[in-house]
Order: sequence, then structure tokens, then C-alpha cells
Amino acid sequence: MSEDKISMNHGAGGEVMANLISSTILDNITKKSVNGGISLDDLDDGASIPLGDYEIILTTDGHTIDPLFFPGGDIGRISAAGTINDVSVMGAKPLAISNAIIMQEGFPIEDLDKIIKSLNETCEEVDVAVITGDTKVMPQDKIDGIVMVTTGIGIAKKGSVVRDSGLEVGDKIIVTGSLGDHGMSLMSFREGFGFETDLKSDVAPMWNIISKALDIGGVTAMKDPTRGGFANAINEMASKAGVGIVLEQESIPIKEEVHAVSEMLGIDPFEVANEGKVVMGVKADKADEILEAIKNEKYGENAAIIGEVVEGDYVVVNTPIGGERILEAPIADPVPRVC
Ligand code: MG
Repeated sequence: MSEDKISMNHGAGGEVMANLISSTILDNITKKSVNGGISLDDLDDGASIPLGDYEIILTTDGHTIDPLFFPGGDIGRISAAGTINDVSVMGAKPLAISNAIIMQEGFPIEDLDKIIKSLNETCEEVDVAVITGDTKVMPQDKIDGIVMVTTGIGIAKKGSVVRDSGLEVGDKIIVTGSLGDHGMSLMSFREGFGFETDLKSDVAPMWNIISKALDIGGVTAMKDPTRGGFANAINEMASKAGVGIVLEQESIPIKEEVHAVSEMLGIDPFEVANEGKVVMGVKADKADEILEAIKNEKYGENAAIIGEVVEGDYVVVNTPIGGERILEAPIADPVPRVC
């Protein structure tokens, strides 16, 4: 493929996308932050605008998922949850979203109705309002189905925003549940393995879990491991903080069905998207208490402490047979159009 045209990898959440964003987006924008808040350059899950005693958190996300309806969710649920989660992992209470819809001429109104009902139910779970939006229609040959763009706004007390760069040596790493469910279920559904497995997407809003952890205190960093999966998220957290991470493979929750599909397709479950999970760094002395609180919440039952932050430059996974491997960020998500 020609170097000067966009390829699917440019939207796949890995190194290729990061390079594109850096060279064509960041370099062309001059004012990238307000009142010294978290800026576009930070490439965190959201940005912030400090105002008085508070920080407003803003994030935006476009959704091009294929198929629109999949086991465990649909584009409406993923639009709401994805945006709510990006606000939530900043340590901010999500308040409202906006939703812009771009549809193909001929799109079934019944499907749109289902999608919006689903978006609404997802917002209701965490008491988030939908306060503005936009609707556009394009000719059939110009767009495939429906694309949704959601923007989320949330609020945090000044000084309490959680960054993805905040890991410190000695912190424990928690994941709030099993990894790879969304990407693997989508892939197996597309490949027609759906009948053999009851694997479903994990798509869910995570604010209720996150707020419990924040109430306890000691959360140093958070990220939702969406495109590029856990491998991308954990490497980004480590490199932004300038630390190493040691993980125990046996402690990392992965469903058997995910393992099975992963072997069939030759795709690493660490590299595919999750849409209802959080990777958290927490102070070691708070880790057990936070883990218990998460496990008592819906969507947190399988949470686990999976490793710790060390001095170093790599994310290393200790294998059950006593070996170790370096977990690198994927070049791109191996499964396209996952969110
Ligand atoms: Mg995110």
C-alpha cells in the first residue's frame, strides 16, 4: 500500500496510528490546551479544562463497528460505554454525552430505534444524560450502515484527576475482569464460530466500579484497554510513567472460550479490544481493599491483581513454567472495526 494513503492500520490503535496522529494531527494544531489542563499532546483518554475548584473532562470517540449488532451489544451500547469509560478512567464522574449519527440512505428506522434504546439503557446504568446530538444522512455508496460519534463530559475535583501516566514503582496492577472478550467475540462472530461458543462482548459502562476504587483512594493511573487491547494499554502506561511492569500470567483473567478462539485464529487475546474493562495502578497498601470493592460491583466479579510496577523499561510476563516474555504493544489491533 502506498505510503501517502490511509490504510486500515492507521485507525487500529497501534504504533502506525500513533505515528499518523503525531505527524498529521498534533503537528498541525497550535492551541492544544485550556487553562493549563490536560492537552491534546498528552493523548490521554480525555482532556481537561481546569475551572475554579474543578476540572471539566472532555473526550470524544467515533464508532464504526462491524457488525452493528453483535453478541453482548451493539453500536449504541458501545458508543455510550466507550465514551463514558474514557471520562471515567480520568477519575471524573461522567455527566453527559452528545451523540452525532451519520447514516446511509436506506438504513432501517427499526435498527436506529434499537440502537438508540440501547445507548439510552447504557447511559441509565451510570446516570449519564444525553444532552445534544446531530443526525446526518449520506448516499448509499458513500457510507456503510451507520457511524456514531459521541462526546462525553465529566467533572472531577481539582487535583483528583487520574492520568494514564501516573504509575509509580511499587504500585500493583489491577484488571477489572477477563481480557480479550470483546475483540475475540466479535472476531468469532464474524468468522461464524458463534454457534460453538457463548462468548460475548464485555461492552459496559465502568463508572460504578471506578467510583468505588476512587472512594478508597490510592489509584495512581487508569486506562481502558480498547483498541490494541491490554498489550497496548499497559505498554502506554509503562512508557508514559518511565517504569517497567512485571505481570504474572497465571493471575491474568482470560476466559477459556477466549483462549480457544485465540488459538483457532492465531490472535493474541492481549492485543484485542476490551470495552468493559479498566487497567488500574494502585498503591500496594490499598490493592486488596480496592480489589474487594471492585469484585462486589457488577462487571467486576473477575477482577484480579496481576502484577506490579518496577524500575525498568519493559512489560514482562512471568509464565507458569518459570519463563518470562516481554509483552510489546501491537503494531495495530489484529481485528479491524472493533469499536
Ligand atoms: Mg480510552
